[in-house]
Amino acid sequence: MSSAFPSADAALPAVEVAPSIVARGVRKSYVGGDGTRLQVLDGVDLEVRPGEMVSVIGQSGSGKSTLLHVLGALDHADAGEVFVGGRKIASLREEALAELRSRNVGFVFQFHHLLREFTALENVMMPQLIAGTAEGDARRRAEELLGQIGLAARATHKPAQLSGGEQQRVAVARALANRPLALLADEPSGNLDPETSEKLHDMLFAVCREEGAAMVLVTHDLGLAARADRVLRLHGGQLVSAGPEVSGPAQAGE
Ligand code: ADP
Ligand code: MG
Repeated sequence: MSSAFPSADAALPAVEVAPSIVARGVRKSYVGGDGTRLQVLDGVDLEVRPGEMVSVIGQSGSGKSTLLHVLGALDHADAGEVFVGGRKIASLREEALAELRSRNVGFVFQFHHLLREFTALENVMMPQLIAGTAEGDARRRAEELLGQIGLAARATHKPAQLSGGEQQRVAVARALANRPLALLADEPSGNLDPETSEKLHDMLFAVCREEGAAMVLVTHDLGLAARADRVLRLHGGQLVSAGPEVSGPAQAGE
């Protein structure tokens, strides 16, 4: 399946596909309670092309969630540049930023945050309605996605009537509902058992590939990380190649 799409390091055809996510020299620090500054991101460079999947590993506290927040315009970088779909985040006004977040970025978190009083179908329709999609179109898209993730028969179930893995799959469908250029997943299977987690990743990879979303997946599971096109480690505030023990399929020949 991965051979269908050129990875970043494979010989690209003459027509280069523009990356959906670009980060250049991104820096971000926090000031802790005692007044000391913690440099979490210290010159992060990253490019992710449509349909490409990059996993990011790293110790707890190394800045993985911070990185996703900065890539998805949920948080500002102190320095450096982030582009999503060719648009420079720092130069967008609040309204344009909100629109970019809503239409071009999909987030999947460890805990799904589905709306409890709404059905699976309605949860997947919601971001589309917020983005201004007509109800009929939103419904068709939600039905299509629920079908793709194997939950067509659960469309009218509310979150409490779904298993944890099913809820997380609905959250993935919701994140993909507006056909985002960038899908940012922060330990999406962190609270699932290994088998359910593997199914979730199967689905995440397949749907991302089909939809052409550029995915950055943060995970502590090295086996799952290695299924992405590239595996990077966030270390010392920078993204570095994860090395041979967890190399993605695209790195096999390097
Ligand atoms: P990871 O996701 O890799 O575990 P995070 O990005 O959540 O790491 O956090 C990186 C570091 O930044 C941690 O030391 C964390 O405590 C600190 N941090 C994260 N968010 C804030 C914040 N809003 N204010 C101060 N420190 C923060
Ligand atoms: Mg985190």
